[in-house]
Amino acid sequence: MLVDQEKCSGCGICVPYCPAQAISIVNKKAIIDRDACLECGNCIRSLVVRCPKGAFYEEPGLYEGPRAIRRFFSDPSTSHKVTKIPGRGTEEVKTNDVTGRVCRGEIGIALEVGRPCLGTTMTEVEKCTMALAELGIEFEECNPLTHLMEDRKKGTIQKQYKEEKLVSAIIEFAADFKMLVPIMQRVKKVAQELDTVFSLDLICCYEDDGSLPVLPVLEELGMKPRVNSKVNLGLGRPFKIYREKKEEKVCDTFTA
Ligand code: SF4
Ligand code: SF4
Repeated sequence: MLVDQEKCSGCGICVPYCPAQAISIVNKKAIIDRDACLECGNCIRSLVVRCPKGAFYEEPGLYEGPRAIRRFFSDPSTSHKVTKIPGRGTEEVKTNDVTGRVCRGEIGIALEVGRPCLGTTMTEVEKCTMALAELGIEFEECNPLTHLMEDRKKGTIQKQYKEEKLVSAIIEFAADFKMLVPIMQRVKKVAQELDTVFSLDLICCYEDDGSLPVLPVLEELGMKPRVNSKVNLGLGRPFKIYREKKEEKVCDTFTA
């Protein structure tokens, strides 16, 4: 983001709206620390009417080159070219009734690394992806972060993106239920090495008796989740169905 120095009056209204503390007033003009700026668009979006001078404008070529990921991972109003939906991740479990992304016998993980006012870098995100990749998980194909990886089996991020800063990135994948303990242990371990914060979404289906199979396992691990539920009304046409096959529970493409 840039400030038109000719237009800016130096009133300072914009300063508290920046979650990265990237705006400061110098010599009665607003200036933006380019390295700190996350390209979240908060200043131009919130202040398009409030900035009395309309002084903010986007850097030319912002949507090209490595810096573009700052915008895609920090501005919720942008739509990534891979997901075609606004935001940094996917619709996660919100559309699970039609996608069947996480079925019984599986868990879904959404690890959101970084938060507004703190942010993170791709280097920190990579610490998590590399730690999880060692467990042999497959990263979600539809997540934009997956497409920035150099080697998905190792969880490495392409070099040109590593120093880029962002509000947050969401690491998403589904795995067999038996991977729950090793994944949680790995997340706990990598948490000690991170220079940022993260939130962990653990997704699973209810059993027929209404119980959540992950809860006793988490209790044993000393983890206390805050349980939320999403009730699918069955209004969508499922792409996948859940069925038993040779005593192994699998997802299969719904072709009927
Ligand atoms: S609100 Fe606009 S005019 Fe005021 S300091 Fe910020 S950029 Fe300059
Ligand atoms: S785009 Fe976001 S991070 Fe950059 S100056 Fe504006 S509010 Fe701050």
